[in-house]
Amino acid sequence: MTLRHYHGKRDFVKTPEPKHNEKDRSYKSNFVVQLHDASHLHYDFRLKIGNTLKSWAVPKGPSMKTTEKRLAVETEDHPLSYGDFEGIIPEKQYGAGVVLIWDTGRFKNVTLHKGKKTALKKAYLNGHIIVELQGKKLQGKFVLQRFNVDNNTNWMLIKMEDEFSNNRLDVVKKFPKSVASGLTLSEYKKKYLSKTKK
Ligand code: MN
Repeated sequence: MTLRHYHGKRDFVKTPEPKHNEKDRSYKSNFVVQLHDASHLHYDFRLKIGNTLKSWAVPKGPSMKTTEKRLAVETEDHPLSYGDFEGIIPEKQYGAGVVLIWDTGRFKNVTLHKGKKTALKKAYLNGHIIVELQGKKLQGKFVLQRFNVDNNTNWMLIKMEDEFSNNRLDVVKKFPKSVASGLTLSEYKKKYLSKTKK
C-alpha cells in the first residue's frame, strides 16, 4: 500500500490537507465519510485497512436503504490523519473545495468467504468487504462489492438488511451536518469561504 499517489497530487505548501506521518497515532476512528464539494459534489468513504485509509468516492453518498446500490469509485489511499480533516482545499489545487466530516466512527470487519471469516486485507483484495459500521449516522452492516472485472476501480456500496436498515430514510438529506463542526455545507461556506476569498 502506498501513499505515493496521494502525495504526488498535492502541493502541501498550498493545501491544508495532512501529509502522511508514520508516527502519527492520533487518529482514533477507523472509518470516515467526508462530504467533498469539489467540481462534482460527492462523499468520500474511507476505511482503515492496514496503515492507510482505503478510499472510495460515492457520488450519491451512502444509503440506509437495502434497495439502493451506490456506485463507489476507488481512489488513491489517504493517510490516517486525513480522517480528522475538515477544511477548505484552495482553488486550483487538486480536489479544490470544502471537505466536511459527514460521519465517522469505528467499524468491524465481518466479511465471510464460503462461511469463513476473512481478514480485512484479503477481503479488500478479493473485492468483497462486509463491514459493521458504528458511526453517528451510518450503522450496521454494509457490503462493498467490486465489479467482477480485474483491476476495476468501480465498486458498489450497499446497505445490508439488519436492525439499522431503513428503506424510508434518505440519510444524506435528513442528516446534512458535519459531525465535527455541526455545520451544513452552505453554513460552512458562509462562515469560512467568504473570508478566504477577496
Ligand atoms: Mn473527494
